[in-house]
Amino acid sequence: MNIAIDIDGVLANFTQPFQSAVNSLYPGRLEDGYAPKDFWYTEKLSSEESLAALTSTFQTHNLWTKLEPLPDAKELQTLLHELHMNAVDVIYATHRPKTPGMSSLAQTNRWLIHNDLMRGNTTTVVVDKSQHKAHLYEILNVKFSVDDRPDTILACQAVPGHRPYLLERSWNVSDIHLPRVRSMREFVKIVLDKT
Ligand SMILES: [Mg+2]
Repeated sequence: MNIAIDIDGVLANFTQPFQSAVNSLYPGRLEDGYAPKDFWYTEKLSSEESLAALTSTFQTHNLWTKLEPLPDAKELQTLLHELHMNAVDVIYATHRPKTPGMSSLAQTNRWLIHNDLMRGNTTTVVVDKSQHKAHLYEILNVKFSVDDRPDTILACQAVPGHRPYLLERSWNVSDIHLPRVRSMREFVKIVLDKT
């Protein structure tokens, strides 16, 4: 069985470089440790400002090798063995724009190796648009996925035989209508209960 795991906001801390880009462009806009209430920071940023901060973040050389791992990445390290033993294959599915330096795929794989998340049952796919994940999951017959982005979950709900789960974060707590998990462990338990 195939499952998919998103990287940014799930395993890797994209919040930190993004918020530091915001505060470089708009000094003092975000207080230390600010927890966004939605995916696009609408409480603090206009859509133009948010886009400008994203564009600036993507100027970082080899950005995708530099993100801090989140606690769920540590948790997944131990869970990968259990998935392997149960013939579950893991696709790291990520929408990561090009940055200066290596390709997004090469940077991502380097990060996964460095954080001990590569195994014989894992592979990586970088998509051009997050909306392409649903199509990817359909083609690859991915049965379960976990992601922090509400519109990705909505799109993936339309894939026949696929069950997407939102990983609870400050920026998606208001999306109460979507199926959610609070941790990687909870997601993996749902997967293993179905094998
Ligand atoms: Mg994400």
